[in-house]
Amino acid sequence: MLHERDWYKRVTAIPSTTGLRGMEGRQTDRVIHIIVDGVSQRFLTEVMPGSIRYLQQHGTWVARCHTIWPSITGPAHTAMNSGTYAGTNGVTLPYVVDPNSETIRQVNCLRESRVESIVEALCRQGLRSAGICGHMNRGMQYFVSEACIGHHCERVTDEAIRAIDEFDPDYLQIVYFAVDTIQHVYGVDTDEARESLLWVGREIHRLMEKEVGKRTTFVIAADHGMVATTTSISDLLAPLFAELGLTWHGYGRFALLWGDDPESQLEKLKDAVSGDPELRKAVQAVWSKDKELATLGARGECYGQGAMLLEPGYSITSGSSSSYPGNHGGYTEDEILVPLIFSGVGVKENTRLDFAETVDIAPTICGLLGCEAPEDAEGRILDVFLEASDGLKVSKPDSKRVEALGRLLE
Ligand SMILES: [Zn+2]
Repeated sequence: MLHERDWYKRVTAIPSTTGLRGMEGRQTDRVIHIIVDGVSQRFLTEVMPGSIRYLQQHGTWVARCHTIWPSITGPAHTAMNSGTYAGTNGVTLPYVVDPNSETIRQVNCLRESRVESIVEALCRQGLRSAGICGHMNRGMQYFVSEACIGHHCERVTDEAIRAIDEFDPDYLQIVYFAVDTIQHVYGVDTDEARESLLWVGREIHRLMEKEVGKRTTFVIAADHGMVATTTSISDLLAPLFAELGLTWHGYGRFALLWGDDPESQLEKLKDAVSGDPELRKAVQAVWSKDKELATLGARGECYGQGAMLLEPGYSITSGSSSSYPGNHGGYTEDEILVPLIFSGVGVKENTRLDFAETVDIAPTICGLLGCEAPEDAEGRILDVFLEASDGLKVSKPDSKRVEALGRLLE
């Protein structure tokens, strides 16, 4: 029989990390990190599937968790998975549409992240990781891909359960994309969006049942939220950008701007916006590279020299971008404030933290697993621990940063 042959056992054996479960500082046998793509804190709170409510009530949750800017999938996942801001990891915009040639141009590819991912950090420390969907976490030892747009939540859960049975990962990341897709296509706050979130909730319940009696910790997070977009103002802005000599690219909820003399061009743009009642209603802010974008860790050439952010309801596109009834990428509460819940073994129950950023997730998960954070991480280790072990450095938020991020949301 094949399975009795030595060579067969050699190639089919999966090395165990069970021995490392008792290692010093380790609080949990497994972290299951679930990303519900595209769900704002507000929308989750409103719909609140029973499974997530249970995890929240029995865990530590964050009242105000900020994701990074731009609030779009690739960069937001990469930031969460490495604990670094987009300007540091270099994964800023996956692609842009060149308005002149109407072609898609790759800006930087997700696999080119310059920083260590949580999976690479855990691997270097002897732990193993599995990922179901979510292609923005480099270095998984076990990975199952599913479509990013329009995927099937039950199939995703089936694959996650199979990963637990067959691979027994220390860290399992699962991404449910359905609610993001549905909000893009049907709009936010629709019955379809609510139903899709409840569907994900039922799937999370299945995972909780799978882990009953085990020493598992759940982390529920999102990469960004979503707002309704009813009015495109590309036609209004294109002539203005041309008049001011600004090169631009519209990315759904924001425009990136380049110019020969950006400082004065951006000032003129601000004046033009405040002098026009229609634009005043539609434009939330004009940001510059050295000020707001730098605060947000959004550095690098592909951000351009400035950015224009839009109020909810408005969109701007160039080239072939389509017009969705729901979109994200801007800097409003419904796009930036996302849920964050830690629950299960090693985590304080019924506890609220006031503030976090999604870059804090990877360092905190590493802490729960008794490991060092990814080496480039800029986030903090959050105070979720039931018993903090020696050497674990949980830290309080920097009040200046909390204030600065809050101001940008106004
Ligand atoms: Zn997303």
